[in-house]
Amino acid sequence: MRISLVLGDITQQQVDAIVNAANSSLLGGGGVDGAIHRKGGPAILEECRKLRASHYGKGLATGQAVATTAGNLPARWVIHTVGPVYSATDDRSELLASCHHQSLRIADELGAQTVAFPAISTGIYGWPMASAAEIALQAVRSASTRVAEVRFVLFDREALSAFESQN
Ligand code: ADP
Repeated sequence: MRISLVLGDITQQQVDAIVNAANSSLLGGGGVDGAIHRKGGPAILEECRKLRASHYGKGLATGQAVATTAGNLPARWVIHTVGPVYSATDDRSELLASCHHQSLRIADELGAQTVAFPAISTGIYGWPMASAAEIALQAVRSASTRVAEVRFVLFDREALSAFESQN
C-alpha cells in the first residue's frame, strides 16, 4: 500500500472514498463533517438519516465506520467514522486506531482502491496533532487491506509537517 501526505481539502480529492470525521449522531457537524455535507449536498444526509433509523438508533459508536454515497463530491463514497474525544487522563489511542482499521475494512467491502483520510479527532475533539499522526500512520501501516493508496489530506502546514515527521 502507498501512503501519501498532501496539503488540501478532502472534499476535492479524486479518490474512491473519503473518510469523514463524523460524530455519533451521523447528522452533520462542524469542521470536516460540515464541509463534506455542504459540498456533497443533501443525498449524504439523507442516507445518514436512513442509517440512523435502520441500524444506529443510539448513534454510531466511537471507533466504528459506515459508508454512504458521496453525493456531488468527486469521490464515490463517504466513509463516516467517529473519532474519540481526546483525554489527557484516559488513553483512547485504540479507538483512534480503530477508526482507521474500520474505515479500511469498509473500503474493502466497497471495493475502494484509493481512500483519503483527514486528521481524525484533531479538530473539535482536541487530539494533539503529533500524537494523532503517529497513531493514524501506525494504524494504516498495520492494516491488512486491499486498498492500494491511503492519502492523508492535511488542512494546514502544521498538520502536514506533523504527519511528515511521523512518516
Ligand atoms: P474532529 O471532531 O474529529 O476533531 P474536525 O472536523 O473538527 O474533527 O477536525 C479534524 C481535522 O480536519 C482538523 O485537523 C481540521 O483542521 C481538519 N479539516 C477541517 N476541514 C477540512 C477539510 N475540508 N479537509 C481536510 N481536513 C479538514
